[in-house]
Amino acid sequence: MNAHISGIGMTSERTRNRLVERLQAEGITSQHILQIIAQTPRHLFIDEGLSHRAYEDTALPIGMGQTISQPYIVARMTEILLQTGRMDKVLEIGTGCGYQTSILSKVSKTVFTIERIRALHMQARKTLSGLGLHNIQYLFADGFNGWPQNGPFDAIIVTAAPQSVPEKLIMQLSEDGGRMIIPIGATETNQELVLIERQGNKVKQTFIEKVKFVPLVSGIKR
Ligand code: SAH
Repeated sequence: MNAHISGIGMTSERTRNRLVERLQAEGITSQHILQIIAQTPRHLFIDEGLSHRAYEDTALPIGMGQTISQPYIVARMTEILLQTGRMDKVLEIGTGCGYQTSILSKVSKTVFTIERIRALHMQARKTLSGLGLHNIQYLFADGFNGWPQNGPFDAIIVTAAPQSVPEKLIMQLSEDGGRMIIPIGATETNQELVLIERQGNKVKQTFIEKVKFVPLVSGIKR
């Protein structure tokens, strides 16, 4: 790994390992996920001025009023999907800076990711291809519609919160054990992370925990 990717000082391996210890203390058990997080240069997904905070377990601003998700929640959502079934084809709604996308790309064959803000979509593509991650397909569009041409998906991860589960996304889950992990809630202070599992036309919902995400917004922003 070159110094840019491996980091020094506040972005070094030692700092990253402290983040991993913290995630373990918070209940993340998947060694696979912890290892991927330890190897992912989160500082390259945010503005250089914030690099020194890249390995804190917090969400941080990425511009355009959006955030990079908290490492704990990225780990938790990915761990749940990994533990509940197949991960060959995964759809992500809300690329943002691409941090969650990079973690998904390490545990699935192909990641399909959708972002509604053009500037973030472009920047994420650049960051992720710069890291040599090539099993990712990008779409600049409104994620409420999903990506029907590439479905059905083994798993769908939504990284912004709608008021209710978008019906079109449920329709794009594999009928044979497709799962969706999604924050649901009308206000930022009252959101719940929910796991949805599909078997044929049966859909089971499980409450995971209280969360705080930016809202899922319809339409695109050029
Ligand atoms: N996955 C990111 C989290 C980004 S925050 C990470 O790893 O840090 C959520 C993102 O969802 C924002 O970039 C926001 O623009 C995007 N978003 C919100 N509504 C959307 C929609 N309808 N379709 C696609 N992306 C959306």
